[in-house]
Amino acid sequence: MINHHFNGQEITTKEELIEAVLSYNPNANVPLISKAYDFAAKAHAGQLRESGEPYFIHPFEVAKILVKLKGSSTTIASALLHDVAEDTRFTLKDISVEFGDEISEIVSGVTKMRSINFANREDYSAENIRKIVLATAKDVRVILIKLADKLHNMRTLKFMPPDKQKIAAKEVVEIYAPIAYKLGMHRVKAELEDLALKYINPEVYAELKSKISTKKDEREEEIHRIIEKIKENLKKKGLVATVYGRTKHFYSIYRKMMVRNKKFEEIYDLYAIRIICDNAEDCYAILGIIHSIYHPLPDRLKDYIAIPKHNMYQSLHTQIVVDGKPVEVQIRTRDMHVSAEDGIAAHWRFKGTERDKKFDQKITWLKQILSWKSEESGKQFIDSLKIDLFGNEIVVFTPKGDPINLPEGSTPVDFAYNVHTEIGSKCNKAKVNGDIVPLDHILKSGDIVEILTSKNAQPSRHWLNFVKSPIAKGHIRGALNIKGIQLDSDDYDEKSAGKAEIEVLDAIKISKNHIKLAGCCAPLLSDEIVGLLTKDKKLTIHKKSCDNLKLLQDAKNDMRPIKVAWKQKCEGNIKRIKLILSDRVGLLAEILNIIAESGMNVTSINTDLIKDKICINLSLNYPGPEQFETAMQAIRAIKNVIAVHYIDKYEKI
Ligand code: MN
Repeated sequence: MINHHFNGQEITTKEELIEAVLSYNPNANVPLISKAYDFAAKAHAGQLRESGEPYFIHPFEVAKILVKLKGSSTTIASALLHDVAEDTRFTLKDISVEFGDEISEIVSGVTKMRSINFANREDYSAENIRKIVLATAKDVRVILIKLADKLHNMRTLKFMPPDKQKIAAKEVVEIYAPIAYKLGMHRVKAELEDLALKYINPEVYAELKSKISTKKDEREEEIHRIIEKIKENLKKKGLVATVYGRTKHFYSIYRKMMVRNKKFEEIYDLYAIRIICDNAEDCYAILGIIHSIYHPLPDRLKDYIAIPKHNMYQSLHTQIVVDGKPVEVQIRTRDMHVSAEDGIAAHWRFKGTERDKKFDQKITWLKQILSWKSEESGKQFIDSLKIDLFGNEIVVFTPKGDPINLPEGSTPVDFAYNVHTEIGSKCNKAKVNGDIVPLDHILKSGDIVEILTSKNAQPSRHWLNFVKSPIAKGHIRGALNIKGIQLDSDDYDEKSAGKAEIEVLDAIKISKNHIKLAGCCAPLLSDEIVGLLTKDKKLTIHKKSCDNLKLLQDAKNDMRPIKVAWKQKCEGNIKRIKLILSDRVGLLAEILNIIAESGMNVTSINTDLIKDKICINLSLNYPGPEQFETAMQAIRAIKNVIAVHYIDKYEKI
């Protein structure tokens, strides 16, 4: 009874695929999709899947799933190419040459996710892995392609050996179905779960399948009669509404049996009746009518319209008794229905912590961005928007694929110490994604990092200038036997101030790496500053007014003050703004629309929660001050926008 498959006419050729894309997006990049199709078909030529079919069927099916989800041209092209770099003679570089950096980065993201090794990380909970998956795929299109990839693999899982089937099914239920749910991809989620159940618990699956079809036949006519009777009564009162019945999917019935410890026979709500109408008043009127023609079960009425669920889900739920059996009825407006189907009504939550609540909120925003039809308005910038889900944390991988969490800005030395103290202290060289890099190289989420150790290597004082993680700092200090006052910028927001350049006026040469801003006073561009120079030519920049200056000079007489000044550089037309909002569906889309209309580009975006308000930091590339001001006025005028702040380039935010 898997009735969650994507319907629609079957697509079997490139032309039909393109036609389907054009049906929802007349501005689609047809040459791009066509070229990606031809390239992938050629690259996979001669390869076979486990099923014995040509391999290219797989990327083609993945692309088709994304077409059903109304994916952008770039997403469809990337889906067609998603296995090329891993499985064929062509490399990411070839893809980059043929299709540009954007597509090659998406393909690279999908490829990297394959190398995440979950199996040997027993300390990683499913929740952690979900985070890792989302953090690795900074670009949401990578997640979409990965989900479509999983879906097609699940559809064809019968060709795999049984032991692999179970592992894949478990991974899908624990990791990918919840992610699909979070993103509001209900059909994908339902199908993933039903397919997985078949392998996780074949007996239960078979039992459900036969029992549901029997019971369905028995109940179908009954439900049909109820629906007709409701329709008739609504008509009499002049109420316009859509009334239909729906069956729950296998896995949700299975979960109900497990959670409530019930037998199948005891589960009555296989069917629910749903009524969609125009406005909230009608919802209550319809409820009244239903309760007048059927007997409602006491205590089963839930008014999520007056009191929405935490996740903004709105609907009236009631249970009526027909022939001694309960039937659930849900009544909601069309708008409420769209929101619920769109994933705003996400029931599934990460358990507990404050951070997880934030995560939840971010995903809601992500969903809103997704639902915004960027190509229809002819603006593609949203498509390339990178969404930073975990601004302060990155996840990189060992060559074996084990994930290592690090603070943002971490380097190979941080990585080494976080893998093992011994690897840290003997760290000699580092490779990132196969290339040798300096030890102070800044790592990015998804990087695969390899440390080359040497017997003679030892921790260097210099490392303290760039390591970020407390573990690395602690071990290095320990090894060097450093005590006392640290001229560190631990607590300093280097993202904003670190870009400022310092001009040293004394006739001394100091390597750029050896200059840092003092954490104690955290000087800003607007502050007058002074440098403290140590004998080994390390310079720390303090505010002239810093209380610690005198103290430090006294404590260590090998420090001397040096005249320094900011060397401010103009960065062109970049403005940073901070928006304070109270959440509502579609708000972000409206804001981004105004930005796009005014000819501005979003170069970065991140969202945060401050109490119950959403705070969005945007960097904008704008054509001129007039356009910028007009856009800001329009944004201020939007409902639920509480404040728009301009942020100085170097201001700490
Ligand atoms: Mn694949």
